[in-house]
Amino acid sequence: MTIPYRSFALTVAVLSLILTASCANEDPEIAHDSSYFNAIEDNDIALTAPEAGDWRYSHNEKRQDLKAYIKARPVRPGADHSTIYLMPVGDFTSLQQTALKQVREYVEIFFQMKTVLLPAISDSVVTAVASREHDGHTQLRAPYLLDSLLKDKCPQGGIAFMAISAKDLYPKDSWNYVFGLASYTKRVGVSSIYRLQDGYLDTANYKTCLTRLANISSHEIGHMFSLHHCVYASCVMNGSNGLSETDRSPLRLCSECQKKLFWNIAYNNKRRLKQLSDFCKSNSLQHDWLTFKADLDAVNQSN
Ligand SMILES: [Zn+2]
Ligand SMILES: [Zn+2]
Repeated sequence: MTIPYRSFALTVAVLSLILTASCANEDPEIAHDSSYFNAIEDNDIALTAPEAGDWRYSHNEKRQDLKAYIKARPVRPGADHSTIYLMPVGDFTSLQQTALKQVREYVEIFFQMKTVLLPAISDSVVTAVASREHDGHTQLRAPYLLDSLLKDKCPQGGIAFMAISAKDLYPKDSWNYVFGLASYTKRVGVSSIYRLQDGYLDTANYKTCLTRLANISSHEIGHMFSLHHCVYASCVMNGSNGLSETDRSPLRLCSECQKKLFWNIAYNNKRRLKQLSDFCKSNSLQHDWLTFKADLDAVNQSN
């Protein structure tokens, strides 16, 4: 099953993922890391009523708590599958390459899992057989990328495999464009930087583009780890109908979604939080830095 990102995401697709590897966090006490989660949950921001055009206005999704998440049997890292791979497709400017390197670092911090940025591959074959001209620019047919470059081609040791295209994407002839496409059961996806940079990436819109790349990458790879759309609080896993809604969502996972990811990956919560805060601070992502810092302050005060 293939799914256009953030517009027709069928979260049921993730239910068939396979439980593998260790069960280090089966203990409910460990699963909750209660002192950490007690400290940060007051920083959850309640969702406001959706307005026309918002994702939740037209999608009535069920809340996935920790119990439901465990029941979904998400894939878990193990000795032979514990690396996230990002693969650029096409030609990227030097500033775009910098953004890709930084998003690799961000994904590695977010999931506390080795993340590899593969060398960029050419999109000439895709352009030749599965592309079109639209609104004065070339678009690649996303399902072709998924089928020809990604499915069953995850590098050795990979647990999730995401391509990032320089060119714009479309899912089928009747659509104008798509931000990305994924097969969550196969844990592969393709996204595009094209629409995240408001035309052309420069120093003026760099921070906005980096924030969007970090948001979309962590959201889509989060789906590959069976995280459903979040309807509990303001969260990077909130569903989104487009860039304006994505821009309103934080990089932070709400406390409930953090419990799920922590149950799965068993990282050090405080170390992850400190690294997320440091990443945002050093890249001047002011709003998200303040959000992570508020959590860090709460955790430090509780100790
Ligand atoms: Zn989604
Ligand atoms: Zn959440």
